[in-house]
Amino acid sequence: MSTLLIVEDDELLRDGLSAQLAQAGHTVTAAADGEFALALLETNRFDGVVLDLGLPRISGMELLHWIRKRLPALPVLILTARDCVDDRVQGLNAGADDYLTKPFEMAELQARLGALLRRARLPAFGGSLEVTSHSARRLRVDAKLPQAWLGDEPLELTQREWALLSLLVTHAGRVVSREDVLETWQTEPGEGAAAGVASNALEVYIHRLRRKLVDSGLNIRNIRGLGYMLETTQP
Ligand code: CA
Repeated sequence: MSTLLIVEDDELLRDGLSAQLAQAGHTVTAAADGEFALALLETNRFDGVVLDLGLPRISGMELLHWIRKRLPALPVLILTARDCVDDRVQGLNAGADDYLTKPFEMAELQARLGALLRRARLPAFGGSLEVTSHSARRLRVDAKLPQAWLGDEPLELTQREWALLSLLVTHAGRVVSREDVLETWQTEPGEGAAAGVASNALEVYIHRLRRKLVDSGLNIRNIRGLGYMLETTQP
């Protein structure tokens, strides 16, 4: 799975987090203060960081600034104390990818962290993804903005259509499972897992995307029982 760094000075919470995330299959390293965390970040490679903002020696916020400068693509989930709205806002402004307010459910931490790690695995993170069809119309999806272009023409997409298309383009020529799509949707801003998405709504979105890709030389194929695949059609 992933190699994670937990930075938390509360021993009970630190040990609990480490044990749970290790049990979920991750390789976990824990640091009790900012200085040790910084030393670890300088000498090791991590896939993600869970960072408490209230830390001794070097503060979580300082550490976050350092990470964003030196390791801009590293996913960071911050932990903030209850009632510290300022911390949360400052943390997000400083480049944290997500936050949780203490106390939190371990299941929610795992879900949010999982979403961050998946997003970070998208190639060309922060750039754009491209597929070129036989008809030489280039489909380009911006990996950050909800925007995509077919040739030079922008496609009109909702946030969900864009997320679905990004996922298909990222895995072009390979199968994307229904579960992958539903997971991606649930991590879009403003759409908590609680909102839920009926799996049959997916068919509707696939249908809409197909219509938008008509004559593009690209097709979204339904692989029965497995999911969907973006492929180029025969010339
Ligand atoms: Ca703390």
